[in-house]
Formats: sequence, C-alpha cells, structure tokens
Amino acid sequence: MIVRKFGGTSVQDAEAMRRVTDIVRSSASEPSLIVLSACAGVTDVLMRIAHLAPSGRCDEAFSLVDTLQARHRVIVDELFGISDGGEARAIVDQSMDEVRTFVTGVAIVGEASPRSFDHLASIGEVLSSRILHAELVRQGGAAVWMDARSLLVTDDNFTCARPLLDETRIRLLDRVQPILSSGSIVVTQGFVGGTVSGITTTVGRGGSDYSASIFGSLLAAKEIQIWTDVDGILTADPGIIHEARRIRLMSFREAAELSYFGARVLHPETIRPAVDQGIPVRVLNSRKPGTDGTLIVKSDRSPEGCRVKSVAYKEGITVVTVVSEKMFLSHSFLEEVFDILNRHQSVVHTVAASDVSVSVTMNGGGMVDEIVAELSTFASVTVARHKALVAVVGEGLRASSGIAARIFGALGDENVNMISQGASEVNVSFVVDESRITEVVRKLHGELFSDSDRYPEVFA
Ligand code: ASP
Ligand code: MG
Repeated sequence: MIVRKFGGTSVQDAEAMRRVTDIVRSSASEPSLIVLSACAGVTDVLMRIAHLAPSGRCDEAFSLVDTLQARHRVIVDELFGISDGGEARAIVDQSMDEVRTFVTGVAIVGEASPRSFDHLASIGEVLSSRILHAELVRQGGAAVWMDARSLLVTDDNFTCARPLLDETRIRLLDRVQPILSSGSIVVTQGFVGGTVSGITTTVGRGGSDYSASIFGSLLAAKEIQIWTDVDGILTADPGIIHEARRIRLMSFREAAELSYFGARVLHPETIRPAVDQGIPVRVLNSRKPGTDGTLIVKSDRSPEGCRVKSVAYKEGITVVTVVSEKMFLSHSFLEEVFDILNRHQSVVHTVAASDVSVSVTMNGGGMVDEIVAELSTFASVTVARHKALVAVVGEGLRASSGIAARIFGALGDENVNMISQGASEVNVSFVVDESRITEVVRKLHGELFSDSDRYPEVFA
C-alpha cells in the first residue's frame, strides 16, 4: 500500500481537489491511504478565530467564520453543482455552526484552552477530507472516510501531542487495513489525532507530513508520497537559478541539512519515522502529476562521482564574534558565552573558534542587541549584520577532498568567512555578504552542477 498526503495548496479549491481525485483514481490499483491537510490558509483562520473569541472580539471572529463558510461552499458548489452535494454542504454548514458556538462560548468564559484550540483546528482537516471523499464517491470510486481523531492515538499534550505508536498501530490494523485489503481507498486527515479516551488533539502546525509518516510506517507502506505545489527538491533556489535542476534521488541526511539551511519543501524530522524504517518518501507536485518528484531514501544510493546535491542559503544572518580578554579560550569563557545564547533561545547555525575568539551565526533581529549587551559585560564583541549563510550539501562531500577547492575556487575573490564542515560531513557552509548572495549562488551552481547531465538518475 501507499500513503498519499496532499498539502493545503493541493486541496485549496475545487480545481485542486479535482486534480487530487484524478491522481488518486489513476492509481487506484494500488491500495492507498489518503491523508489530507485543510484547504490552504484555513488552519490560520481557525487559529485567528480562536484568538479573537476570548477577548470578546466576536464580530471579527464571526465574520471570519462567514468567510470560511463561503469558501468551502464555493468548493462544494463547483464540485457538485448547486442542486447536488447536499451532504457535503450540510457538513460545511454544521461545522461552521459549531465554530460559531465555540466563539460565543469562549467569549463568555473569556478563555480558550489548548484543548479547545485543537478541537477547533481539527475542523479544517475534517472539512477538506469530507469534501474530497464525497467527490471521490460521486465519481464512482470505492472510498471510505475515516476520522483520524480515532486512528492517530496521542497523549494529551494539546497543540503538539505525541503519537502513541502501539495504540495507533492497533487501530490502523483493526480499522484501516481491512478496508484497504478489500480494495477501497481510505481518506483521512493529517495533523489531527485523539487521546485514548477520544479527546481531539493535534500534532503541531504543519503536522500532516508527520501524520502521513506515522501511518505509513505503522502500515509498512511501500512508499509515502507528499504531494505539494513544487516539483520536488531542487539543486538551488529557482528564484535565483533559473536552470536549477530537480533532484530525483537524495538521502534523508541531505534533505535534513537542506531544510536546516533554508530549503522549505518539507521538514525532514516529520518524515523520520518513515525513513528510519526504510520506507522511501517521495515529494511530488499535484499540478504536474506526471513527473516523478524527489525520492528521499534512508541511505544514499547515488553514483560514486555525484558529489553535491544542492546549494542552499539563509539570508538575514548576523555574525557575532566574542573575543576573550585572556590569551586563550577557557572552558568557563565558552560556557558563559553559550549560556547567554541559550538563555535567549537564539538559534545558532554555525560556530567557529580561533585561539582567542568564538564566532556564531544567528538570525538577525531584536534578540541580537540584548545578547551583545550581555556578552559585552565580560568580553569584547563585534557584530556583522546583513550576512548570508551558504551551504553546499551532498553525501559525496565526505569522500572527496578536491571538492572544497572547487567550491572556493569558484568563489574567486568573494569575501568568505566562517567556513565550516558540518558534523554530519554532508555539508560545507560559509558566510558571505547578503548583497552578494545571488552572485555567489550562481557561481557555485555553475561550477558544481555543470556535469549533472552525467547523473540522469539523480538530476532531472
Ligand atoms: N493544516 C495544518 C497546518 O496548516 C496541518 C498541515 O497542513 O500540515 O498547520
Ligand atoms: Mg496547512
């Protein structure tokens, strides 16, 4: 069996939903579990409503509910026509009445608990999945809708609940497996789950990939497909590199490094349960169902000579350099520096140390000034803003020494700082001026991917 997860943009309107039903029906010979996100933006609106209600801003909240209702009704009308689709329309109306009741209730109490947040948030996924299921059935497909709130069993850590795998496995094998075996498609929701006693939970924003990964790993899926609105993971940001190639095959570690350095296609931690079990995960574009996307596997199966997969970057980086007033970096000095960084919960991307100083890269912004003020009480500190962090990512970096020379050779006289090789050894990163980022990425991409035609199994 295959798990197919469709993200918010893949079900954002009637046209998108039809593309999904085409994809699902064209591969109906393979048993599949369809996991859906809410229509794009709906979860945000529901969260907005949940924040407005307790402060008594009911009019604003109600008008958002009206917008949601109208949006889902348009989808239903376009799919089924005005005279048909009564059931789907009724579900939309009932759900929205439920949201209105929530607003009134919460406004009276003046407080919304995380538990009630989750209850409200789940409505987005319930609606998209109900509508899509109704459309599949209308088209004559054998499809069963199942409520993820009784499939994905979690603890009661509302808004970021953790799945209870043993319980979830039992439910899946009991309830989902027989339906799949009978040849029917199962449609369910991502992101939402329920406690053992049936109270609605969610696994955290953007959690549908995680749900799909859990379902896939517990059902021992052949493949997990993450359908989005991009072609897959690319060799560089297509906004800068028009000739960026799609990566056909990459390792989990490469995907993890890339997302850390700014690629936004998927959060690899969310697919770890699947990858750990050796289940391949494929990222696909629901607007171009014919292309094979990007396949992410546990260990690299790329050919020997293929060194590098992608160049990623992060802008808005600040480099903070702390110089010890002693002649060396003592343990207590470093401890104090990192203690301050920790306390401010600043995300440090890379660290470089010399005999007497330590430099860290972090996201620029308000926090930097406070951190610098604290560090300045015991060290001299310099701050370089408007930097960008560039990372070259590839499993092949480990094996080859010549690649560093090629990377820095390509950069010529660009001003490069804080060069580091990640602990995982699948990335080489460095800092450049933000204003140079386009040029730097172009130079690197030109140099590193000029021979990508030699690896058609890796680059499309
Ligand atoms: N709809 C949820 C969100 O927007 C979950 C997801 O899309 O993955 O966070
Ligand atoms: Mg979403």
